[in-house]
Amino acid sequence: MTHDSALYPTERLARVADAVRAVGLDLLLLTPGPDLRYVTGYDAKQLERLTCLAVPADKAPFLLVPQLELKAAQASPAGALDLETVTWGETAHPFGMIKAKVGDPRSIGLSDRMWALHVLQFADIFPTASQRLASTVLSPLRIRKSAAEVGALLEAGEAIDRVHANVPGWLRPGLTERQVGARIAEAILAEGHVQVDFVIVGSGPNAASPHHEVSDRVIEHGDVVVVDIGGTMPSGYCSDCTRTYAVGHAPEEFLAYYEVLRLAQDAATLSVRPGVTAESVDRTAREIIAGAGYGEWFIHRTGHGIGLESHEDPYIVEGNVVPLEPGMAFSIEPGIYPGPHGARIEDIVVCADPATDPITGDPTTGGAGVQRLNNAPRDLVIV
Ligand code: ZN
Ligand code: ZN
Ligand code: ZN
Repeated sequence: MTHDSALYPTERLARVADAVRAVGLDLLLLTPGPDLRYVTGYDAKQLERLTCLAVPADKAPFLLVPQLELKAAQASPAGALDLETVTWGETAHPFGMIKAKVGDPRSIGLSDRMWALHVLQFADIFPTASQRLASTVLSPLRIRKSAAEVGALLEAGEAIDRVHANVPGWLRPGLTERQVGARIAEAILAEGHVQVDFVIVGSGPNAASPHHEVSDRVIEHGDVVVVDIGGTMPSGYCSDCTRTYAVGHAPEEFLAYYEVLRLAQDAATLSVRPGVTAESVDRTAREIIAGAGYGEWFIHRTGHGIGLESHEDPYIVEGNVVPLEPGMAFSIEPGIYPGPHGARIEDIVVCADPATDPITGDPTTGGAGVQRLNNAPRDLVIV
């Protein structure tokens, strides 16, 4: 809670209102989810009862909450904002209450994760308004993390690194992926996360399926195991880190491409600096992997942004010409999956101004253009 004022600064709401006007939107509507949390600090539950932050271009913003959620809203960082709170009782019509306050906007922005249940009711009540995604307004803000946000992502990275430090002890022949996954999930919580977002334990042939989760396959001597895990911290910020392990020993052909992957992941990471495009970071990894003859087995983008969501802008992919800026945080996670095994190495990194410490904001001399937020060993760990 002590981090709240730095992580969710009270002036952010005014900056969002400025951004609503700047993109020419009449009204921004945010229901519970990462957008609402980003703007107000309020980690509201997504429910059929409408909770909604309304940010009109030309009027004061207000937060509409069901009466029974009022105390929770006031106890959240939103309670410290200069923000009118409007409650509605069980028999009221909350959509009509919003319309009564805002009139007839020509354009509305809806949070990207708003339920269709609410989207369609807003469409009914504002039949002539054009609809846009709230990310039109919020992505340019969310994509550049403040020093406090980078600090929260580092805290998440350190927590998931501690989990990975224990994984070798759990990867024992005779245990199933599901059993290992259950221990990992417990550890994700024990190391400080409030939520387990995903646990991938891909052993043997399952290592060649990038989004395999867990199965009842028994881990065997000689298996390669891809372990990709992440969770959400009390701050709201997410972790995401992949390491590939070998049980007992690894096949020769695996060792050959793991070395290529290691070089590609490192080169892509070191290519990050302000001004470099997102797609060029992808190309750096891809050229090394393709140059070694494994290009057809690198079947996904190099990375994704991370913050209050474990996948958000900027995506590190061919075609994304966004120039990287200090504060942009994203994964670097090339993989090679030829079967009957596969490998991925993933770290979260933050693009940094070489002249400024990304966490303290203090001037530095000779800093790098990138800071790694995961630091578990990347060389193949044989357990
Ligand atoms: Zn991952
Ligand atoms: Zn990832
Ligand atoms: Zn062996």
